[in-house]
Amino acid sequence: MAIQKTKRDFPLDRIRNIGIIAHIDAGKTTTTERILFYTGKTYKIGNIDEGTTVTDWMEQERERGITIVSAAITAFWTVKAGQFAGHEMRINLIDTPGHVDFTAEVERSLRVLDGAVIVLDSSSGVQSQTETVWRQANKYNVPLIAFSNKMDVIGADFAATIQSARDRLGANAIAYNLPIGKENDFKGVVDLLTEKAIIWEGDPSASLGTSDTGAKFHETEIPADMVEVVKAAREKLVEEIAGSDDVLMEKYLGGKEMTVVELKEALRKAVIASKIVPVFAGSSLRNKGVQPMLDAVVEYLPSPQDIAVVTGINAKTGEAEERKAAPAEPLAALAFKIQVDPHVGKLTYIRVYSGTLKSGSYVYNSTKQITERVGRLLLMHANDREEIDEAFAGEIVAAVGLKDTITGNTLCDESTPIILESISFPDPVISLAIEPKTKSDQEKLGFALQRLSEEDPTFRVKSDTETGQTIIAGMGELQLEILVDRMKREFKLEANVGQPQVAYKETINKSAEGEGKYIRQTGGRGQYGHCLLRIEPLPRGQGREFVSEVVGGAIPREFITPIEKGVIEKEDTGILAGYPVTDIKVTVYDGSFHDVDSSEIAFKIAASLGLSEAAKKADMILLEPIMKVEVTTPEEFLGEIIGDLSSKRAQILSSETRGNARVVIALVPLAEMHGYATAIRSMSQGRATYYMEADHYEPVPQNITQKIIESSGFTGRVEH
Ligand code: GDP
Repeated sequence: MAIQKTKRDFPLDRIRNIGIIAHIDAGKTTTTERILFYTGKTYKIGNIDEGTTVTDWMEQERERGITIVSAAITAFWTVKAGQFAGHEMRINLIDTPGHVDFTAEVERSLRVLDGAVIVLDSSSGVQSQTETVWRQANKYNVPLIAFSNKMDVIGADFAATIQSARDRLGANAIAYNLPIGKENDFKGVVDLLTEKAIIWEGDPSASLGTSDTGAKFHETEIPADMVEVVKAAREKLVEEIAGSDDVLMEKYLGGKEMTVVELKEALRKAVIASKIVPVFAGSSLRNKGVQPMLDAVVEYLPSPQDIAVVTGINAKTGEAEERKAAPAEPLAALAFKIQVDPHVGKLTYIRVYSGTLKSGSYVYNSTKQITERVGRLLLMHANDREEIDEAFAGEIVAAVGLKDTITGNTLCDESTPIILESISFPDPVISLAIEPKTKSDQEKLGFALQRLSEEDPTFRVKSDTETGQTIIAGMGELQLEILVDRMKREFKLEANVGQPQVAYKETINKSAEGEGKYIRQTGGRGQYGHCLLRIEPLPRGQGREFVSEVVGGAIPREFITPIEKGVIEKEDTGILAGYPVTDIKVTVYDGSFHDVDSSEIAFKIAASLGLSEAAKKADMILLEPIMKVEVTTPEEFLGEIIGDLSSKRAQILSSETRGNARVVIALVPLAEMHGYATAIRSMSQGRATYYMEADHYEPVPQNITQKIIESSGFTGRVEH
């Protein structure tokens, strides 16, 4: 593990912070591998099927063949022509995980990207998760180019893939190059702007795994039988580009010639403004089409300079403030990922937005209001790391030595504190109980859970006050399975693990009032807490609110916070069946106190009692997570699959033909999906696949609610 030490001041406009996003199996990992190979930082082409890829470094990922943890990798690429010709460009590649359970990881990485490549499967077009990552990219204003991968597979259709991006994503997707041949005959592409054909040499599929695998290509004339289609496609692309730029539009309408340089410049602006998504044809597995896409990353995706300012909140004044992407500005940086590295310990991945981050310096964590010392700064390459003294605005680095900084924290200068917008994570939908086998396992558990939750902010831990068990919760069965696996392997922890449980929530249907009184008179000093609460339902997804309307000192101010605490604790514990209460507004509007006997604890208990009483009158219900499920199956199994879904309380949204497969989209309660992976395999002889993600929460039907309450064994008693 070589660590070289270099000092480098890299011009901002030569940096690209990008990610690759896709539906699972579209080829994100393979494409990432090829990029790392062509940029010269991997020495052997990784092949996901053999489990030798560079970014999937965790054992579990290898075994499962999926990418879980986003790692930032720095690579270098030089383009031959255009604005950046001959310059070495630094590409920071943030690996985003492909599996839906790790959607939050994708969100987190998108937050720090300047641009992304969206990989599509040319035989399927846009798929469910493609829509999700597209939405996420839009949310963070991340400009995109698209890579239409798998042009070599049976059923590959470039035009249909572009059309599906237009129809299903509403993207202004347009061909940038055209494939030469398809399926087994896919050989190369024609660049529509330069009007040159690029042909890859040899049969790379025969030599996968060797260092010079099929990366070579040569430029040639457009094949004779494509001249007409190229002309038409070029005309379309040029018209689209001209339409995005006033000066070019004038030239275009005036019938004047536009140079390739002019068109490229205008296209760059249009991509950065998310007006055009150029689409590139290729096959990562067969090593075709990747280099032109990589050139496009440089030519069309933004540099940190193109996103010149970042806004945050001044930690002193509370006012919005901007920071320029320049090294001389005050420091503003965001920690977006914690990773435990087997060689150097805890790594904190940081995106520097403005100013300069120096190794060995002290920085201010404005989110937590603490000062931390940065030890070493590292650029992570595919298989080595480079130590640097300083990281400038626009760069992504890994820092060693930060102890208490977690994902989403802002690092800055203490004299000019700023808090950047943090990263939002969804609530967990599934949980399981975990019980250490021995006393020493019990001790290890706390440490392991802390470490793992630092790395993965969607992973939550709580202890069940009724059973004393430790409950871990997350976004899907797979995520929890992997976490349990890591506890065993990395922390050598032996534990009994319960069945995955659906993370229900409780809420109220109507407003109500309740009185909470906790008064004890037992000789000496007594206890006196008394409050009146009003509860009201909030719209779905709104969470919780607490307000005080107490006036005239009916309850002294110092007891309002304990009342709020009592309310929150009760909301966390649950009232109906032991699930957290949500979408509720609690108002304390009156009460009374006693000069001597009133205490914080008495008001806390009174609040808890008051909330329980009000809730009993407020028509409490359970909410359950509803998943959006997309099943892709050969026609012959369609009937059985739909029948099975219907027996699972599914609401079928659509059933359509895509290529030679049928795709069913349905909303299904998560509670019904346990073991679906096995079920669908046996229904379809292993030929149908499915994908699901949490969509929203919905009330549980009455008859099922009763069963859940009974099996929860929840007593709802108030601890005194
Ligand atoms: P990810 O889930 O998006 O990371 O996808 P992977 O890169 O793991 O690829 C999923 C599967 O598709 C693997 O079996 C790959 O070998 C295969 N694959 C990826 N790219 C191509 C391609 O261009 N052509 C073909 N035929 N298969 C591909």
